[in-house]
Amino acid sequence: MSAEPLTLAERLSRQIAAGGPISVAHFMAEANQHYYATRDPLGAGGDFTTAPEISQMFGELVGLCLADVWMRSGRKPGPLYAELGPGRGTLAADALRAMESAALAPRVHFVETSPTLRERQRALLPHVTHHDSIDSLPDDGPLLVIANEFFDALPVRQCIRVGEEWRERVVIRREEEGRFVAVPGYRRIESGLPPIAAQAQDGAIIETPIVGAGIAYALAQRIAKQGGAAIIIDYGYAGPLLGDTLQAVKAHEFADPFADPGEVDLTTHVDFTIIGNMARQAGLRVSGPVDQGPYLRDLGIDARAEQLARTHPARAAEVEAARARLTSADAMGSLFKAMAWVHPDWADPAGF
Ligand code: SAH
Repeated sequence: MSAEPLTLAERLSRQIAAGGPISVAHFMAEANQHYYATRDPLGAGGDFTTAPEISQMFGELVGLCLADVWMRSGRKPGPLYAELGPGRGTLAADALRAMESAALAPRVHFVETSPTLRERQRALLPHVTHHDSIDSLPDDGPLLVIANEFFDALPVRQCIRVGEEWRERVVIRREEEGRFVAVPGYRRIESGLPPIAAQAQDGAIIETPIVGAGIAYALAQRIAKQGGAAIIIDYGYAGPLLGDTLQAVKAHEFADPFADPGEVDLTTHVDFTIIGNMARQAGLRVSGPVDQGPYLRDLGIDARAEQLARTHPARAAEVEAARARLTSADAMGSLFKAMAWVHPDWADPAGF
């Protein structure tokens, strides 16, 4: 007799039945781990499209931004290109090609947990070294780090105001309805909430990037020790802010974040204030967040688009559409933000 392996929904149901409600953070961690491990979600036929998949200009400009910082900081030897959550590897391929034109040929290291995406990345960049976390990145050279739409995929803790108290938001299973729902848990949250918590109304939600903040701090400590710079791009805001930003996307449409764990992409908007403060605490200099549109324009996306359109006239309309999508305020230009960190002895990046 061969038993079917349990689905993630069944596993989570059993966990909840045996051990009680699970936190939103735990739910998000399990759901995204399964989601990314079992598919390539990117592109028109997938669930969502990211900036590097829209145009080569994105990776080229971000790569050149880092190459320029490296050159103006004394061309330190042995640089490492480290990308967090590189998706299909498209950004890295475009960034590395642009870096090469600036005589920068770093060793390439990816932090990626998905076996499916690792394989895709290796097809594009056979010489990449993969890591489960930033802990095993080499420590013998300056780090040039890129993270595009990485932090939004990491689990957040959600706290919800119930009367005069704050409680952690948890996920339960309503068997009669056959679905998961998020409700206020019993555990009171006594500390660690920002001052705006005091003005919040009943039902308000505060998100804390418990995993992202830890990764940001550890990464910043590495840059403080090894030298280097990081560019972080994501949808987000300069917090603190009250609100539930947890969202699910499936086939380019919003979905219920709790309905189908592991089968939809779960994200939250990134609190750039917290991410930036982690870098400041580690002794780095922080620029931004600035809107992606002005950032890419400052780096020269208009000139690059013109040049590409001239060289490939048949693609001119496509290049212009991509430029507009990446930069205009009603597309990705202002929802997405860019932030940069540099070692205190390194030059500030262009674009901020
Ligand atoms: N940066 C890419 C892909 C963004 S999707 C792009 O812009 O196209 C999020 C990426 O982060 C995927 O590659 C996913 O597998 C990876 N990821 C998600 N959670 C992760 C984690 N905890 N550790 C490492 N990688 C993770």
